[in-house]
Amino acid sequence: MEQTFHGSCHCGAVRFEADIDLDQGTSKCNCSSCAKGRFWKAFIDASALRMTAGSDHLTEYRFGGKTIAHFFCRTCGVKPFGRGETANMGAFYAINLACLDDLTPEALLAAPVEYQDGRHDHWENQPAEVRHL
Ligand SMILES: [Zn+2]
Repeated sequence: MEQTFHGSCHCGAVRFEADIDLDQGTSKCNCSSCAKGRFWKAFIDASALRMTAGSDHLTEYRFGGKTIAHFFCRTCGVKPFGRGETANMGAFYAINLACLDDLTPEALLAAPVEYQDGRHDHWENQPAEVRHL
């Protein structure tokens, strides 16, 4: 069921709302960025995110193919979401589930998790080991 969640960075400068259906699954990936940031995320359509404060606090980081914009708060360094666009998914946001202030641990644990082998650019495959992600 789709719900509207309220998210923020650590210092609270960046605030947003996101419409997310956690039953559609969440994602963990072993790529160099997700692994270091422990980025447990949900993908949503670009139209499902609304900034409510702090757009001017976001700093953008890109690496590798530079197709994904990783946004982090320039004050506290927390990454609330990334944004990208692919032929398959269209324009999307990858929401950092840890930044959702009204998502309970129980609801997060009830959501299905899919794993991607981003480290080897085999996004459609599950990595051999996922317990550390
Ligand atoms: Zn912040």
